[in-house]
Amino acid sequence: MVTPIMDRKKTVIHAGVLIDSIAPTAIRDQLIFVENGIITQISSINGVLLESIKSGYDFYDFSKYTVMSGLIDAHIHFFGVPSTKLDELMTAPEAFRSLRAAREAKEMLYAGITAARCCGSSISPSLKRAIDLGILEGPRLVVAGQFVCASNGTWDHIKVPVQAMREAGMLADGPDQLRQKVRERIREGAGLIKIGLSVGAVGDEYHAWGDDPEKSVTSYSLDEIRAATDEAHKNRIKVSAHCIGNESVLNAIETNVDTIEHGYPIDDKTRSILAERKIIVTSTAAQLYCHNASADEFSYSDGEKKLFAIHENSMRNNFEQGLKFGIKYALGSDLIGPPTHPQTLFYKEFEIVNNWGMSNMEAIIAGTRISAEALGLDDLIGSVEKGKIADLIVLGSNPLEKIQALKNVIFVMKSGNIVRNDVSNDKGSIK
Ligand SMILES: [Zn+2]
Repeated sequence: MVTPIMDRKKTVIHAGVLIDSIAPTAIRDQLIFVENGIITQISSINGVLLESIKSGYDFYDFSKYTVMSGLIDAHIHFFGVPSTKLDELMTAPEAFRSLRAAREAKEMLYAGITAARCCGSSISPSLKRAIDLGILEGPRLVVAGQFVCASNGTWDHIKVPVQAMREAGMLADGPDQLRQKVRERIREGAGLIKIGLSVGAVGDEYHAWGDDPEKSVTSYSLDEIRAATDEAHKNRIKVSAHCIGNESVLNAIETNVDTIEHGYPIDDKTRSILAERKIIVTSTAAQLYCHNASADEFSYSDGEKKLFAIHENSMRNNFEQGLKFGIKYALGSDLIGPPTHPQTLFYKEFEIVNNWGMSNMEAIIAGTRISAEALGLDDLIGSVEKGKIADLIVLGSNPLEKIQALKNVIFVMKSGNIVRNDVSNDKGSIK
């Protein structure tokens, strides 16, 4: 069924608990008015004649539940291949990969993820287009299209012939090629550029991230990165950079990169600059969690197990330090799909950062309002406010009490349209 792009009905939602991603605490018993997909008013239930509202509007009684902004994953990938068979990125037909990704996008939306940023995937511009046109159900997407990296850079799979990598279209060397690559991406439908600024040391097995994150090296000159950011910014789109290691993060800062992905390990001086300039760093913890959780079932080698443990340890230490310095984090899971990394596990990102020192409210704000800023959509989504698009979720329990409540999504609204409703409206109980 094709979803209408705009809901023309008037809807009122009674939120027993409202977390609006602006106020420092939850607000009790609020009415959220939605017209044509936009939040037109939020008011306290006191003094409002509920009966008159019920006659003029579609009324949803969530007085027993928590209402908040839809979750926004600031870093995912739609590869459309099993996460355990990434070699299929080179062999599976794009059409088949797209069909698999379409299903993943729908599942994300039903899990309460109403917006996401795809930080690298050749199929994501078409997926975004199909969702925007209402052909497919899925989150509101900002997409990078294919990665951009140097020869021997972040995603240059050095175990396949270089000609095959060139055909994949991600390699760009020298300022001129970078400028051209950004123009090609925009032509293909990208609304974001994803660039790789670091790579493992020479001889490392784990090429993209490095066997030891402390020893990762940079893969682009400042002039090359600057050509990409300049060209992207001329077109008013953002640049997101994969950075493992202090030097690559400093290079990103120096060249006006908009968001830093991963961003560890770094030193205190770099932390101070990131915090002072309020540059967004995306958390990306769930993907390492999923690797560690899958290692036995999917027979990871001892080398892989060691590698992911080293990275998780480094990421955690850096995140904890980053919080002390006041670094601005958006939540992004870096999940790529089943069987080991289903994108529906974004709620794990909240659990992990909560475990690493963020309060429940800070985590919720990071994974809604700050993530919306990473997407460049903070004037439209990411908080429950008058004038924002009605991308809302309802939870069976309060995530300020227990962050795991984010897993318990019972209602999803996107652009004012009801995507999922597990609540029996006459009784207000979960079906
Ligand atoms: Zn990623």
